Amino acid sequence: MFWADELAARVSGPQVVNDSKTPSGTVHVGSLRGPIILDVIVRALRERGLQTTLLYGVDDLDPMDAQALLTPDAVDRYMGVPLAHVSDQADDGHDSYARHFAGLFIHTFAGLGIHPDRYYWMSELYAAGEMDRYLRAALDRAATVRDIYLRVSRVQRPEGWLPAHVICPRCGKVGTTLARDWDGESVAVECLPDLVDWATGCGFTGRVSPFGGAAKLPWNLEWAAQWSHFGVTIEPCGKDLATAGGSRDRSDAIAREVFDREPPLNVPYEFLNIGGKKMSTSMGRGAAAHRIAEVVPPEQLRFLFVRPRPNHAIDWDPDGTDAIPRLFDEFDRVAAASAGLTVKGELPPEPDRLFAAALLDPNADTREVGAAYRPPFAHLALLIQVPGVDVRERVEAEKGAPLTELEAALLEERVRAARAWLDEYAPDRVRLAVQRDALPAAARELDPAQHGALASLAEAVAALPTGEWNGEALQSAIFDAARAAELPAGRAFAAIYAAFLGQPHGPRAGWLLASLEPEFVVRRLREAAAADTLPA
Ligand SMILES: [Zn+2]
Ligand SMILES: [Zn+2]
Repeated sequence: MFWADELAARVSGPQVVNDSKTPSGTVHVGSLRGPIILDVIVRALRERGLQTTLLYGVDDLDPMDAQALLTPDAVDRYMGVPLAHVSDQADDGHDSYARHFAGLFIHTFAGLGIHPDRYYWMSELYAAGEMDRYLRAALDRAATVRDIYLRVSRVQRPEGWLPAHVICPRCGKVGTTLARDWDGESVAVECLPDLVDWATGCGFTGRVSPFGGAAKLPWNLEWAAQWSHFGVTIEPCGKDLATAGGSRDRSDAIAREVFDREPPLNVPYEFLNIGGKKMSTSMGRGAAAHRIAEVVPPEQLRFLFVRPRPNHAIDWDPDGTDAIPRLFDEFDRVAAASAGLTVKGELPPEPDRLFAAALLDPNADTREVGAAYRPPFAHLALLIQVPGVDVRERVEAEKGAPLTELEAALLEERVRAARAWLDEYAPDRVRLAVQRDALPAAARELDPAQHGALASLAEAVAALPTGEWNGEALQSAIFDAARAAELPAGRAFAAIYAAFLGQPHGPRAGWLLASLEPEFVVRRLREAAAADTLPA
């Protein structure tokens, strides 16, 4: 069974699926795994007829803790201040820093077909008093909270430590305050210059009521409070939080012992490793989601994340490799299998369910969409580099029929992706320059057997009917010509690359020739076959 269907079969009754995120910076492509898993689970639940709500929280009372993202004059003022209260550093019309970055990830999610039923903002829930009962419970049971930290995670909180982060009434920072002495109405607060090394408190001391947005819960308690407040039943989380004694275990214990509720079902998921490096939001390395999304269209990006089970790490290295063309090829195989077409090689279980999960439209007809003609990505990347080629005409020739509306749209998307891939990620060897004006010098260094193969290939392709001017037919013509000349196929390909590209390597030769006009191919093959008789 497809993994999301397995999960859906394990639960019953109405479901509330939740995730939340700190809007602190650019979304990295690895952090899309969570939201995509969430969306696929929600679809599977709904297909089983379970009433399901998808919620997404913006943890915008979290403190600003990344100096690099502030303009230099804003560092002293804003480090340690809740993200919702930091001004938009990009100054492009958002109400706050948090709104700016949340806007980016909401936009990214929408582009991937992820549409939560509701986005909620923690700053608004606190301000509306909706977190007050959880703050009160946490403060009343502070000793239990301290015990959970110690018992579950071996983290020792000092005697008297309280699970509330007050926003300093004087300087507005939340990362610098320490609360003590809960009396049922208020706490004693100190805003310390040296509580953390990334922000400096103002020295304020006084008593403050923690309610109505004046304080927030520490992360683990806030997480458990979200579960209680919204009645969350399923919440996947990243492996880094799901380790034994880690953040999730702490929040689970807090849900049970402080808020008197069973925690939601966990679906721990592994990371996406880009080129062997773990992706994380806080570290700058790796690829921004919006940059990858410029190259990999949404359905292929969803496919990348939904194909493996959540507990399997994904190793992906798009830079200077064939990883992106291979992703398209794999997608195309699964698409074809969903349409009931025969495909080569091993397939995942229930490819049609996997395919459905990758599509943007949850109600798409997978048979129909899967049957659409999709030109191989690598072939397209080649075609678009050949000057003067009418790509659509060539693709229609390969298909043997005009493209449908859907196919034309897919082609357009793919051409855009292939161009971006060539610009940003493709290895140099696939960047192609056909030497049209004159026979490349390299073609003058071929041996007699190669000349023989080129000559017989020239005659074979000259005789090829127009309807068979395609990669497959030309590829097999090359093999035939090599065999006739008793030449290993690799040396025949090398001769073709020398004759057309002036280099020893190239893309699949049959498809290279198919991307060119027949007259030019025949002329050039004959020219190259006779090259040793020309003056050097
Ligand atoms: Zn902005
Ligand atoms: Zn202060």
